[in-house]
Order: sequence, then C-alpha cells, then structure tokens
Amino acid sequence: MELSASEIWAHALAAARAYLPEQSFQTWLAGTEAVGFSEDALLVEAPSQFHVEWIEDKYGALLRRSIEQRLGRPLPVSYQSSAPLAAPAAFALATDAPAYSSPPYRSNISESKPTVPSDKLNERYTFDRFVVGNNNQLAVAACRAVAEKPARMYNPLFVYGGVGLGKTHLMHAIGNYLQQHAPQTHIAYVPTEQFTNELVTSIQEGATPGFRRRYRHIDLLLVDDIHFLEGKERTQEEFFHTFNALYDAQKQIVLTSDRAPSSLSGLEERLVSRFAWGLVADIKPPDYETRIAIVRKKSAADGLFLEDDVIDLVARSCTSSVREMEGAIIKLLAFSSLTNQEITLALAHEALQESRIPTPAPSPATSVSDILNAAAAAWGVEPAGLVSKRRTRDVTVPRQVAMFLIKEILDVPLTRIGAAFGGRDHSTVIHSIRKVDRDLQTDEEFASRVSRLREQILAEEA
Ligand code: ADP
Ligand code: MG
Repeated sequence: MELSASEIWAHALAAARAYLPEQSFQTWLAGTEAVGFSEDALLVEAPSQFHVEWIEDKYGALLRRSIEQRLGRPLPVSYQSSAPLAAPAAFALATDAPAYSSPPYRSNISESKPTVPSDKLNERYTFDRFVVGNNNQLAVAACRAVAEKPARMYNPLFVYGGVGLGKTHLMHAIGNYLQQHAPQTHIAYVPTEQFTNELVTSIQEGATPGFRRRYRHIDLLLVDDIHFLEGKERTQEEFFHTFNALYDAQKQIVLTSDRAPSSLSGLEERLVSRFAWGLVADIKPPDYETRIAIVRKKSAADGLFLEDDVIDLVARSCTSSVREMEGAIIKLLAFSSLTNQEITLALAHEALQESRIPTPAPSPATSVSDILNAAAAAWGVEPAGLVSKRRTRDVTVPRQVAMFLIKEILDVPLTRIGAAFGGRDHSTVIHSIRKVDRDLQTDEEFASRVSRLREQILAEEA
C-alpha cells in the first residue's frame, strides 16, 4: 500500500523525535509539514529559509535514513520555506496605474514614471515585528503617522540614533505599510552611499538629467544613513535639489542618521536646517524591559523556546543594540543545534561567554573589504560581482571563500558580513561558511587555493 506524503513524514518525525533532544525537535522540526511529492522527492515545508538550511544540514541524513527504513527504498526530501518570498519589486512599479486615493498624491501621479534603481524593502521589517519601548516610542509613533498619512504631518521625518537600534527597520516598515495599503505609491529606499554612487556614475556618463528626473518622480523617498553625506559636497548639492523638488511637490521624505541634524558637522547649513523642518525623533538603546520583550519576540519568531532565566541572561548581556541581541539568539540556536543540547542557563552562559572572549585584535591594516578584494582577485573577478546578487559559480565560489576568511580572520558578526555582501542575511552567511568548510575537507585543490589566499592576506596584514 502506498503511503501518503504526510504519513511518510510523520514517521520520519517520530523517529527524529525519539532521537533528538526535545528542544531541538521543537525548534527545528515541529513546525515542518509534508506538502506532497515533486518529481521523485518528498516535498516538506519549514517555517523559514534558516530552518530549511539547518534541517538539511543537521538532520537531513537522519530523516532520510528513517524514511528509507520505512519504505524499503530511498526517497529524497526536498525542503522549502513556507515564509513568503522576498518582497516583490516594490519600487516605482506603477507606470499608468490609478493614483493613490488620498491627496496630495492624486494630483501628483503622472502618466509615466522613470524608475529609480533601488534596494528592495525587507519584508520582515514591519511595524508588527517592531517592539515599542520607552526608548523608541516617539520615533515609532512618527513613523506610523507618516505611513498612514504621508506628506501631511511630518515632512521630512528625521530619525536618528546609534547603530543597530532599528532605524532601517522603521524606515522599511513605512515603505512596507504603504506598499500594502497604497500599492500605487512610488517608493524608493536608498542607502545614502547608493545615492552617492548613482550620482557619480551619472556624472561620469553625462546622464545627470536622467538621474534627477528619476528621483523627482517619487512619492515616498527613504534615504538611509544620511550622515554619509558629510564631506561630499557635490552629492549634497544634488540632494539639496532633490529634497526641494520633492518637498515642494508635497512628497514624503524620511531620513535616518546616526546623529541629530545639529551634530552633522560636515553638512551644509541649508541642508541641516531643512532636515529639521518636519519632525526629528531619536531612538535610544532599549531599557531592560524592552530588551526582555525583544528577546521574547525574536526567539519566538525563530521557533526557539527559551526559559525566563535564559531570556533574562540575554537581556542583561546585550545592552547596546538590538542587533547584538539578535546575534546572541542566533548563537544560542546554533550552539544548541551543534551540540545537540537543550538551551539551559548553563549552556547559554557558555555560548554567550564565548562570544565575549576578546579575539586577537586584527591589524587595522586588514578590513572586510581587503579580504573581499583579495578573494575576488584570486578568482579573477571584479569585487562588485561578489557583492552583487549574481549566483553564477564564477562569483559564488569567491564570495563564499571571502565570507569564510572574513569570519576566520576578523571574526566579525555574521550579520555584518552579510551586510558587506549586498545585504545578505545571516543564514546565507552561515550556509556559505559551512559550504567552504565542507569543501575544504573534500577538495584538495580548493583547500590549497584557500590556504594560499589566507597566507597572502595575513602577509599583507603583517
Ligand atoms: P539601525 O538601522 O538603527 O542600525 P536596524 O534597523 O538595522 O538598525 O536594526 C538592527 C536589527 O535589530 C534589525 O534586524 C531589526 O529588525 C532589529 N530591531 C531593532 N530594533 C528593534 C525593535 N525595537 N524591535 C524588534 N526588532 C528590532
Ligand atoms: Mg541602518
């Protein structure tokens, strides 16, 4: 008698559950579901791409073995994430669509809009996922008001605060909200560095009018990390005109920065004063209660069940940024999976302590971009290819090697490595590092190539 997909999977899960610590099972496997067969594989959905990679890596063999035992023949398993795919191309989508229903947009949306090349909105960065505390209340309220009534209340909205405190998250949340509630809104999210790079390219190519036109046909302009404009006079000049054009046309502008407008010393006065025309809201580091709420929310979202004492430990040991707290949670997930142990207070101590052992300070001569450049050169490709979204082998191999060596030599957080490679997330970085790790053990030629590169980097550092 043929078994159904869910019967086969139920059997595999029962076998895994008997074998694994309950917490690992709950964290990684309890949320999976067999959804059918594709070609000759059992199709299984897991809650996130991160789950998919961990399951394949850690439990793939175990699950395959028990399926084979049950069926008397091997049956491959194909895992997929049930989380919705990355945000659709969200920007400047509408060309001739009806206008956003609320003024002033109606009168402003014209027939055909040139598109702005823009980073995608991260769909995980929504208001729902953002924990509100005393430290960020005003900023959240202002962002919500702007999302609900763009260009009416606070224009521009200027949000500032230290690294990893949620500025980018809130900015994307405004974009995501509008994309959902007013899908015809032309939204552009641009990190300041990208704005600068595009401007430089357009100047080189003699295409500044096109650059201007593109930016001036936007309903919601989100410019992240505006402090990077400091000292860049030509970009400031161009941004000044973009700002005025959008402002005069009653389009919403949202800016983030690591400092208040008045502390942006390398910026022209006329820009600084404009930044304060609307509302300036700051975000401070979260207090203890807010940190507890954040750890609860984040770990639950990752399907990780933590005891109160562990939550307290994370909240007490990470005080400066939310990004640091996320790093700690990922560390706990990884630690418990690799050691196959449940996360007790003792294990959490061990896992988090380790991350605080000071690593030998790398010589200032070596940076993330040095290693990235060296790996690109060793494989004979342009560094830009490693940062790009391209997935062809010519760039994926040096990209993975670069990530691996950056972790090994500089030991910077996975999220920072991901950020340096065009905003990839930590699970992609983990995946890359593990892939290189595996290949080093099986492919001698690859191993000697990587070790030559390592020596070269370390020699340059010395
Ligand atoms: P910034 O732009 O200020 O450096 P980010 O917006 O990139 O910081 O935030 C860093 C990480 O912390 C992101 O993954 C973000 O989702 C998360 N984060 C920050 N603040 C909060 C919060 N209050 N609630 C939930 N997640 C948060
Ligand atoms: Mg940011």
